[in-house]
Amino acid sequence: MPPTDCPSCTSRAFNHPAYSYLLGLYLGDGHIVSKPKQHHLSIFCADAWPGLIDEAETAMRKVMPLPSVQRRQKNGCAEVKSYTKHWTCMFPQHGPGKKHGRVARGSDPFNISVARRASVALMDKHVGPKY
Ligand SMILES: [Zn+2]
Repeated sequence: MPPTDCPSCTSRAFNHPAYSYLLGLYLGDGHIVSKPKQHHLSIFCADAWPGLIDEAETAMRKVMPLPSVQRRQKNGCAEVKSYTKHWTCMFPQHGPGKKHGRVARGSDPFNISVARRASVALMDKHVGPKY
């Protein structure tokens, strides 16, 4: 396995405000691709909010500095991608398999406590500032 700075796998301390912010972006306009040879977290930021693109990249690097991050300009929005399979450790999965993921998270108390703290922070902050 390649080295990782995944907070879930290494139990290291990480930046909780950055994580809550990123979780908000992910739940709003993000997804995780997790295939045998393709793993990344993508966040999409509308061009109308250029500050968000920087914020998203900064938040990714604060939570996991090690993976490479790429930006791609698309039609009307920018995509920020962070290449590691470990985002699945940090974020609930969308779509099919979600229930399965929940059962798997039930065996991992760390992920549950992170998700709980993050949702409390989200209730206060929702998706964070836009500018
Ligand atoms: Zn991990």
